[in-house]
Amino acid sequence: MRVLFASSNRGKLLELKVALEPYHIEILGPEEVLGAGQALPEVDEDSPDYEGNALKKARSAARHCAARGIKVSVLADDSGLEVDALGGAPGVLSARFGGVNASAADNRAALRSALSPKQVSAASVRFPARFVCLLVLIQSHGSEIIVRGLLEGAIHLEDRGSGGFGYDPMFEVGNTGKTLAELKQHGIEPQTHRTIAAALLVEKLGLASAAAV
Ligand code: IMP
Repeated sequence: MRVLFASSNRGKLLELKVALEPYHIEILGPEEVLGAGQALPEVDEDSPDYEGNALKKARSAARHCAARGIKVSVLADDSGLEVDALGGAPGVLSARFGGVNASAADNRAALRSALSPKQVSAASVRFPARFVCLLVLIQSHGSEIIVRGLLEGAIHLEDRGSGGFGYDPMFEVGNTGKTLAELKQHGIEPQTHRTIAAALLVEKLGLASAAAV
């Protein structure tokens, strides 16, 4: 199955490629489907939840392709980080926590500032948190599948590791003692909220036993 991933985020694309290609699901970026220099229309991510935003992204991309006579399935991701000490923030606002057009470093700095007053003593403080990923697949015949993956862990105030993207350098996975950025820096793709959601998608598509041999 050929699938357009409706995002320009290379980190998300790579995770989904590794998770889905063994099941003969070919994940393609916008330029691979639309042509060099072409992009999908911007989508206003103004829904109060991940599902609403992921549906908006997927449906907008599917309409864009249909209008150009391109027959392809479309996959969209909306994801975020939820920190217990902040009542679940930044959540759906994770991409903009440091302001409109904030860089990943700006977002991490904003998270550090929000958590610093809650810190009892310096260093080694961990704030329980989870990453959430909502995936929406619109198949080329129009049916929609929605799945959700969660990754539990904790936020550290210091960045550690050079791999991955977004909040990866601050997010320690479960009890591994390592951040996602440390786990990813050697080219290894660990299990994440996104790969967990991808596995559920494979199950819903009935492809769980179809891995390449
Ligand atoms: P959106 O899904 O485009 O709204 O962006 C979600 C934001 O959440 C990203 O820009 C990142 O800041 C953050 N995020 C989501 N998933 C991850 C992840 O796997 N690693 C690090 N940051 C993530």
